[in-house]
Amino acid sequence: MTAAVRAAERGAHVGIVDDNATCGGQIWRGAEEEHGPDAATWGSQLRNADIRKLFGMRAFQQPEAGVLLAEGSNDVCELHYTNLVMATGARERFLPFPGWTLPNVMGAGGLQAMVKSGLPIRGKRVVVAGTGPLLLAVTAYLRKQGAEIPILCEQTSWGSLARFSIGLALHPAKIAQGLQLKKELAGIPFVANSWPIAAHGGQVLESVTISRSGKTEVIRCDYLACGFHLVPNVELQSLLGCQMSGGYVQVDEFQRTSVKGVFCAGEPTGIGGVELALVEGQVAGLAAVGETKAAQRLFGERRKARRFARLLDRTFRLRSELSGLPSAETIVCRCEDVPYSRLQEHRSWRAAKLHTRCGMGPCQGRVCGPATQFLFQWNPDSVRPPVFPARVESLGRVGSD
Ligand SMILES: Cc1cc2nc3c(=O)[nH]c(=O)nc-3n(C[C@H](O)[C@H](O)[C@H](O)COP(=O)(O)OP(=O)(O)OC[C@H]3O[C@@H](n4cnc5c(N)ncnc54)[C@H](O)[C@@H]3O)c2cc1C
Repeated sequence: MTAAVRAAERGAHVGIVDDNATCGGQIWRGAEEEHGPDAATWGSQLRNADIRKLFGMRAFQQPEAGVLLAEGSNDVCELHYTNLVMATGARERFLPFPGWTLPNVMGAGGLQAMVKSGLPIRGKRVVVAGTGPLLLAVTAYLRKQGAEIPILCEQTSWGSLARFSIGLALHPAKIAQGLQLKKELAGIPFVANSWPIAAHGGQVLESVTISRSGKTEVIRCDYLACGFHLVPNVELQSLLGCQMSGGYVQVDEFQRTSVKGVFCAGEPTGIGGVELALVEGQVAGLAAVGETKAAQRLFGERRKARRFARLLDRTFRLRSELSGLPSAETIVCRCEDVPYSRLQEHRSWRAAKLHTRCGMGPCQGRVCGPATQFLFQWNPDSVRPPVFPARVESLGRVGSD
């Protein structure tokens, strides 16, 4: 949004493509006033700018340099560009544990998105567990919608959270957000050193066993909202040949990737939250239209936001105990039903893929890839087109005129 607005303001011919039905990405989903002043301002600037908007379209392939193919529910289109800013965001990281595939065990952000889309949650008991600040935002939201939250389990230690609080001193806006959240979460037991070890139920989830400072406890619930921080969506950038570093897209000071004319902003360059995404988008949009002086004026703001990203990274690093959660029968690749024991027979992501079909289902390793990276230290070694499942007639466009 911010890249498109800044580039359009300078007179560039701009188009925005997003597979969501509306603008605003994961956090704002619509970018209306109810999401706060930033959402309202950027949302109205985007709506009023001379920008071609293609919502509900997903870019899935690059048939040739300077062209992307994007698919909607009924059509497919070719997107021709001179400069491309990729801001593909992030997704939740899931870690397998016994019972994690039971209905009503959901991603924390995923459950929030479903409630925003109309899933009734009033009066339901929701255990929230995993790691990262998204858990707090989701808990506050679910409570506001009438859910009962018996416990919020955070895997990181109290010491790590204390260092995080000290680190927040450099980010006054975050302190204000934190205090607001504290108010909204008052009365909900928040427990550090705690994570889910098993989910139980017949047809659907009925209870969760958690580890709490070394002791186990069973909690009755209707939903488990569970996510272990975020992983960047970098598949499209990989497909275009952008250089990666530590799992993120490598960019220079103007958000330029290693591929000429391709820029990257937001979570794919480092998980840093909304402020970092907003400023990186502006830098990329300005740099893409040659306004490097204006882009440079935002470097200070970006430096500060990046410091927060590093703080997040340190605080919510996964503890090693979590890699011991799956049992031999625990499904790790849920698209292809591959249990943990079958993966233990292999030494690399590629070998596991070839022998078990792990990562070859509809999600194309988006869920089990980050999980096996943590469990076995495997690195996905290639991305193949299409990066998302696409209809046969859409694939038929590849190479045609
Ligand atoms: C499920 C979820 C819920 C979240 N909820 C919150 C919250 O409540 N509060 C909070 O502070 N932070 C939340 N976050 C963190 C949030 O992602 C960041 O703070 C911020 O939105 C990052 O902005 P971004 O522009 O980098 O990515 P995003 O906001 O994720 O925007 C990326 C957009 O690109 C689209 N996209 C990706 N690939 C393609 C493609 N190939 N073709 C077309 N479109 C594509 C995505 O659908 C998305 O709309 C959430 C994250 C997730 C994953």
